[in-house]
Amino acid sequence: MPTLTGRRTRTLTGYVTTLLEYPRWFIEREVDFTDCHHDGVYDNDDEHCTTCEFGAACRWLNSNRSAPDPDSPLAELLVALDTAVFYLRSPHHEHAGHPRDCSCETCAWLHEAQSFLRLHRHKA
Ligand SMILES: [Zn+2]
Repeated sequence: MPTLTGRRTRTLTGYVTTLLEYPRWFIEREVDFTDCHHDGVYDNDDEHCTTCEFGAACRWLNSNRSAPDPDSPLAELLVALDTAVFYLRSPHHEHAGHPRDCSCETCAWLHEAQSFLRLHRHKA
């Protein structure tokens, strides 16, 4: 299966793993930990975290900071992918106003990830 990065992967898990690389890079770049008193480690029990403007992204990043284990269940990877799509599509991102046929990196990734989810969500 061809991917954005031009690499070919043999398994669905490998494909999702490759798809998760872009949001990891994107979210890592976007989240600002300058004022974070946890140094970017999400704490479910801390009100600062649950109300933080970067909360959703930070929580995602904390469970997806490194590439998933090749043995991770597909269902788990699909949830991570789904959450990343939701995050990148959220209205506070500038690309929310991009035209449908936009081919910037984020739109291209969203297009690919969403097509993949449409095809495979039922398998999880
Ligand atoms: Zn775009």
